[in-house]
Amino acid sequence: MTLVMKFGGSSVADAAAMRRVASLVQAALPGSPLVVLSAMGKTTDGLFEAARAAERGALDEALATLGRLQAHHERAATELGSEAAFLEPAFQDLKLLLRGVALLRELSPRTLDAIASHGELLSTRLFAKAMGHAWFDAREVMRTDARFGEGAPDSEAIAALAAAKLAPKLGAGSAVVTQGYIGATEEGLTTTLGRGGSDYTAALLGAALGATEVQIWTDVEGVLTADPRQVPGALPIPELGFQEAAELAAFGAKVLHPATIQPAVEAKIPVTVRHTGRPEGRFTTISGEVATGRPVTALASRGPVTVLTVSSSRMLAQSGFLARLFDVFGRHGASVDLVATAEVSVSLTLEADAPLKALVKDLSSFATVTVSEGRAIVAVVGERLKRTPGISARAFAALQGINVEMISMGANEINLSLVVRAEDAPEAVRRLHGALIEQPLDGGAA
Ligand code: ASP
Ligand code: MG
Repeated sequence: MTLVMKFGGSSVADAAAMRRVASLVQAALPGSPLVVLSAMGKTTDGLFEAARAAERGALDEALATLGRLQAHHERAATELGSEAAFLEPAFQDLKLLLRGVALLRELSPRTLDAIASHGELLSTRLFAKAMGHAWFDAREVMRTDARFGEGAPDSEAIAALAAAKLAPKLGAGSAVVTQGYIGATEEGLTTTLGRGGSDYTAALLGAALGATEVQIWTDVEGVLTADPRQVPGALPIPELGFQEAAELAAFGAKVLHPATIQPAVEAKIPVTVRHTGRPEGRFTTISGEVATGRPVTALASRGPVTVLTVSSSRMLAQSGFLARLFDVFGRHGASVDLVATAEVSVSLTLEADAPLKALVKDLSSFATVTVSEGRAIVAVVGERLKRTPGISARAFAALQGINVEMISMGANEINLSLVVRAEDAPEAVRRLHGALIEQPLDGGAA
């Protein structure tokens, strides 16, 4: 049995951070951990920056950026008691790559992946060497297609390769260290899974290996009940359903992107989100099904959005009206978020950057349109929301004095969305948090 422990860039940003990671790995050794690391904080950004400078022909600038990254890695290695010389070949490679890009003034996604992959290759070499753990090249198992920059993993191939090449290296009492984010095509060309891809790696490898748990170690105590900048009393959510996580992510909550942990959730492997700096503290477990008695799990808000209200003198129910309406949005590539219908009108929300003028012009040919800009969506998310009577009443009582302009219950019945003026959103979230999360609700009704 294996445990996957993934540490993000901020958790391995310098020697001190790596020491904390090392002690967590040490404590987990009986569980045969596979340690998946991101690049040291900001390294991937730095490599992208250097590559883009080289593409512009600014080789000096590119090499200067690379020099800073090298100094940072060497300092960390030295502080952890290793000779830094073992890092040199990777930086030689990077210099060659950047010179090539500068000479050609051409940066293909394939070349960018070759450059970016060094971030994780370096962080893992450094960590494994300093802590005396085995190092494993993720490209041996993380098979993707050849869409460089956004390689799509081939789960079946990954499972077979992991069973053959990685599983035999795992065992109780020792740790294997590998890279997040990077992969390889069948021909062995280096790819990446896209920015932030290390969580995805952890979930894919966890599923491939049948891990007991996938731990995502980061700089927050799990997923919180609200944005702590809006609600100082926001608390970590002990248990979060996958659907809930998806809703929260869609509404801009800072959770890991649910798609990235889907492979683990599908394999029924619990994913936990934990704080590297406070390992004894609270954390969140995300799983396919949650069995808590809590009707409201979390709140999120997103804005500004624009509300369009489209009214027709003819009855809405008249066949073809909605088709005609949505055709307009489709044609302009404007994605509609919330929709609420009334007898003779439809209200919907659009991103603030939607092509408003063009939309209104087209819609006006068959309906009356009113536009309200500067609004925000406040989402109340909970798996038992729909089955718990009285939530809306309680929400509206809490929002007295704040004008709620639109209400929509998500089709999956776990999201109640309210539209308010953007400037009212923080206050609305605070009040709802007080009324629906801080005060115990009667969650017993089913
Ligand atoms: N290092 C990569 C990035 O910064 C992948 C990751 O951190 O998950 O995007
Ligand atoms: Mg990251």
